[in-house]
Amino acid sequence: MSGRPRDAVIVGAGPAGSTLALLLARAGLDVLLVDRAIFPRPKPCGDCLSAEAARLLQRLGLLPAVEALRPARLVGWRVYGPRGTCFSAAFRDLGDPDPLVHHALAVPRRELDAALLAEAAAAGASVLTGWTATDLLRDGAWTRGVRLRTPAGTEAAALARITVGAAGHRSRLARRHGAGRRPARIRKVSLTSHIPRPSGGDWYGEMHVGDGLCAGLAPVTAAGDCWNLTLVADADRFGHDARAARPFFLEALHRLPRLAELAPEPGELLASGPFDTPVRQVAFHGAVLLGDAAGYFDPFTGQGMYHALAAAAALAGVLEPALRDRSAALPGPRELQPYATAHAALTRGHRRVQRLIHQVLNRPALAELAIAGLARRPAAAAALLGVTGDLLRPATLLSPRLAVSLLFPNPAMRPG
Ligand SMILES: Cc1cc2nc3c(=O)[nH]c(=O)nc-3n(C[C@H](O)[C@H](O)[C@H](O)COP(=O)(O)OP(=O)(O)OC[C@H]3O[C@@H](n4cnc5c(N)ncnc54)[C@H](O)[C@@H]3O)c2cc1C
Repeated sequence: MSGRPRDAVIVGAGPAGSTLALLLARAGLDVLLVDRAIFPRPKPCGDCLSAEAARLLQRLGLLPAVEALRPARLVGWRVYGPRGTCFSAAFRDLGDPDPLVHHALAVPRRELDAALLAEAAAAGASVLTGWTATDLLRDGAWTRGVRLRTPAGTEAAALARITVGAAGHRSRLARRHGAGRRPARIRKVSLTSHIPRPSGGDWYGEMHVGDGLCAGLAPVTAAGDCWNLTLVADADRFGHDARAARPFFLEALHRLPRLAELAPEPGELLASGPFDTPVRQVAFHGAVLLGDAAGYFDPFTGQGMYHALAAAAALAGVLEPALRDRSAALPGPRELQPYATAHAALTRGHRRVQRLIHQVLNRPALAELAIAGLARRPAAAAALLGVTGDLLRPATLLSPRLAVSLLFPNPAMRPG
């Protein structure tokens, strides 16, 4: 397995790793993509791509593969507050002339990730599934590849000119780089299930906000016969007993007014968390972090897959020329700086919006007020949909005037 170094070894075949492998393999580079799972594999997720993702998938030549999975097309989102107050917004109302972004695609991750991995393999990437990366191969400050555990439990090594850590938000390799910035400050867990179509369900995705918890509900097939139901709750309320997951899930749903009415019967539950794993840096000597491994905050706005795809495209643009010249120096922090800059530009504003939303959701009375405000201000609701759908810049939402007008709809009551 060791032998001559590959151009790139990519650890993790989620949307980030598979997309990067595909783009580098298409450019004629020698790429090895490794994942500890055997595909198709389950993945806890809300299964919804943000609206802008369709345009990006088309640019990357991946839209036909995703369309072949017969995804659901969500026309917009409806958000319910702790006392049942609700606002909704539709993608079409954002006025983008491109019909591709008039809906968001939703498809089970089990199928999506397997399809993206198949595309990477078809483009020429070598793929090892059931193989686990256990450590980095180091030479002083430089990473030279990864140590692997084979499906038979033996050890192997993969040498590479660049090692890409795309192993998700709890990436061990990111920790081995010392990339972690601090322990998680928000401690949340998620439970995901797929359920039959609930009565009254239409083509809107739904978010339900409660005290210390929220839940997302959306169809994930074109036929509308399979829905994703994901609950995210404060970890402290959940405890650590896996056997308690189902009673906790059912009890939590009963605390969310509309979901209590639907009384869904969840199937297998997939757990994940805690989240909030910021990183200090994404570029190292001979190694780079991508996707959730490059920092993750909170699943509420459901933008992780779009960011994973967009960051993979940005990284491919930097790595292709750097790796094509085999006599050139190995990529280090200087060569990878354009990716680090693009990554920060992609995520920084969205993190601020996610933190702001987290602050509001954490206070049920404030959440109710904000949701009531958005119900009265369709333009503001559309702006929120546009930003979380990756169609509008985060700055659209970060104006203090907008926040004040939402919380104090009556101008006479506004502070200052
Ligand atoms: C509850 C929840 C709901 C979410 N909902 C949405 C949503 O609706 N929309 C959205 O866009 N995003 C959502 N997200 C975020 C989204 O799931 C992630 O942002 C996305 O999966 C990131 O892709 P990735 O390729 O970076 O990592 P992942 O998809 O996590 O893939 C990482 C891969 O690495 C592999 N791996 C891990 N360790 C090793 C190892 N040591 N060796 C080899 N392989 C390894 C894993 O098997 C996995 O296949 C949600 C997340 C959660 C937790």
